[in-house]
Amino acid sequence: MTNPYPSDKALVPFVSVDHMMQLVHHIGIEPMLIGLADAIEEDFHRWELFDKTPRVASHSAEGVIELMPTSDGEVYGFKYVNGHPKNMKEGLQTVTAFGLLADVGNGYPVLLSEMTLLTALRTAATSAMVAKHLAPKGARTMAMIGNGAQSEFQSLAMKAICGIDTVRLWDIDPAATRKAAANLRGTGLTVVECSSAEHSMESAQIITTCTADKQCATILTDNMIGAGVHINAIGGDCPGKTELAAEILHRSDIFVEFPEQTRIEGEIQQLAPDHPVTELWQVINGTAKGRTSERQITLFDSVGFAIEDFSALRYVRAATKGTAFYHDLDLLADPDDPRDLFGMLRRAAP
Ligand code: NAD
Repeated sequence: MTNPYPSDKALVPFVSVDHMMQLVHHIGIEPMLIGLADAIEEDFHRWELFDKTPRVASHSAEGVIELMPTSDGEVYGFKYVNGHPKNMKEGLQTVTAFGLLADVGNGYPVLLSEMTLLTALRTAATSAMVAKHLAPKGARTMAMIGNGAQSEFQSLAMKAICGIDTVRLWDIDPAATRKAAANLRGTGLTVVECSSAEHSMESAQIITTCTADKQCATILTDNMIGAGVHINAIGGDCPGKTELAAEILHRSDIFVEFPEQTRIEGEIQQLAPDHPVTELWQVINGTAKGRTSERQITLFDSVGFAIEDFSALRYVRAATKGTAFYHDLDLLADPDDPRDLFGMLRRAAP
């Protein structure tokens, strides 16, 4: 039902899935990944300004539902996101999301957006922004292990932001690899469909793991990892859900988003609670070291942090302003006399 008393100041821009797809095509996926990576990097530079808390997770036997809030003091944001590895077999997405920005001054929402696509874009942009700082110089080849919903986004972001030209695909389900290879055709990447995880890692300087399983899996074993690579570990992002053998963690320098959250959810849940890790925002602002030698193994233990979603939402807010890529949503009751909420309801009687 439409609001009989709409007030322009209370209409909330809403970016639907359809609008998000139109926006990506309008900007171009690689320029958008670059723009998102820039927005995320800018916010990592002003990291200390933000409210930070590990996300609020509600676990069940099948998956997890999470809320991810943050604020920079002027704008507040949160994302609702789920993770249900069994969904894919039922024809549903493993990860779906939506998010909101609000004005801290009056608490009114200023943007509501789909975030299933935006999460894939921002996760890929974050991975590539981090790899730009940590991967070996001149890295050209990435192993992409797990060829599900996130995988093409990861591949294209590494191309656009780090300059990789070859992606080597591996998934236990050959149909997933065929799908990713077909989707990446014509993007300028050389795509190699591989017969095992080991095969995918041949000559790769960047190794991305992006699998979904609700358990401590061992996608990478210690003997698979040679000196000098950068590991971009995306799929271990929940308590009891990891991808790497613990021995790899002991040989790597580990970089994280927000340690308080990553110690609960990331690969490092396998390590002692005081195992040293480096916070990425400090590498980005130059107060901590990133890669220091050619033989060093760098590991981005990615779990996804609220500030990345905030950056993505503020990018979308700016990119959609003055365009046709949103609807005005009648989300907030906003009577002309703010104390007469009941009167507004009464006047709407049929
Ligand atoms: P998806 O279900 O679409 O794809 C996962 C793929 O992994 C499937 O194709 C599956 O066959 C494959 N797989 C499972 N076990 C494997 C194994 N042992 N070896 C190789 N492949 C294997 O899921 P998705 O949306 O692509 O998400 C992938 C993972 O990334 C999930 O665990 C999700 O929670 C995580 N994720 C993390 C972030 C982050 O910020 N770190 C963001 C989004 C998603």
